[in-house]
Amino acid sequence: MAAPKVAVVGAGVIGLSTALCIAETCPSCSVTVLSDQFSPNTTSDVAAGMLIPHTYPGTPIHVQKQWFKETFTYLFAISNSAEASEAGIHLISGWQVFKNTPKEELPFWSDVVLGFRPMSEAELQKFPQYRFGRAFTTLKCDCPPYLLWLEKRLKAIGVQMYTRKVADLWELHSEYNIVVNCAGIGAHQLVGDEKLFPIRGQVLKVHAPWVKNFIRDGDGSTYIYPGIDRVTLGGTREKDSWSVSPDPGTTKDIFDRCCSLEPSLRGAQDIKVKVGLRPSRWCVRLQREVLSRGGVKLLVVHNYGHGSGGFSMHRGTAKEAAHLVEECIAALQGSLSRAKL
Ligand code: FAD
Repeated sequence: MAAPKVAVVGAGVIGLSTALCIAETCPSCSVTVLSDQFSPNTTSDVAAGMLIPHTYPGTPIHVQKQWFKETFTYLFAISNSAEASEAGIHLISGWQVFKNTPKEELPFWSDVVLGFRPMSEAELQKFPQYRFGRAFTTLKCDCPPYLLWLEKRLKAIGVQMYTRKVADLWELHSEYNIVVNCAGIGAHQLVGDEKLFPIRGQVLKVHAPWVKNFIRDGDGSTYIYPGIDRVTLGGTREKDSWSVSPDPGTTKDIFDRCCSLEPSLRGAQDIKVKVGLRPSRWCVRLQREVLSRGGVKLLVVHNYGHGSGGFSMHRGTAKEAAHLVEECIAALQGSLSRAKL
């Protein structure tokens, strides 16, 4: 069989990392990324890029832990290499503070991040309204540089990238053997997935270079995440809102909430406001599907619906999607040899 042709739809963190894993796992494939938007115009560009998982209720915890661990290990290696600053990956320490002690003693990811421990009394004194806290070190991606770094790696290994809106996966049937759907919230329209819904997030990206540690209020309704050049202040989680226009009232509310956690932020400058739609689902859709129309078959692998945790999980889910593509290739080769007999 000639080199299998794989199209990856989507150029956010999921599409680019999936294309990279496919090219690494199946070097004989010809991989193409098709997307209507590339960085800096994707939801992935808006994200804070912190590696702190959110739980997907419909995915077993051991699977989520595996995805997170693979992602953490991959990015930790980059953070320890000369690529770190170009890729926008760095270690970051900080605090997750709670007004009431959380029910769950240890989150599933506590032994993946580094140095997870309860906060000391001295640390808690910085947050007089809070009674309990966790300190740990994790990784952060500066999202636009990381996406550009992924694009550069893809180009270096011969992956083609084209700007193209795909209205229907079937339009790729004559050109590609396998289609990988990484369309994020776009999958709602592309494959009519009614289980996929937006959770709107508004954030501020500010200049406050003296802020070096992350601070996160409990489940992350308010957060301060320092990056290499800018600090991300958040946030909002507005279920089923499709609006990508910044709301000035929300901007003020986020700023006030963050200043009550870290009063020095009153001196922050050059405030930029961004909005993104988290592609949310009960569970990530990571599965093979064989579409059939008039006796013709189209092999599809879905990898979307990462909600609030796309950066935290991307490498783990990309590896799993690449294995599903390998299975599709084996199925294609099997049906070709049966046809020859
Ligand atoms: P996207 O980045 O939206 O990419 C989808 C791609 O598909 C785009 O390129 C789009 O143009 C393309 N596309 C869609 N439809 C079509 C079509 N029909 N034809 C062609 N192309 C199409 N996650 C974390 O892990 N840590 C965080 O700290 C974090 N912070 C966040 C903060 C905010 C404010 C928001 C909004 C999200 C945050 N997230 C975070 C979540 C994270 O951003 C998402 O989970 C992740 O970006 C999803 O990536 P994606 O590639 O699936 O989607």
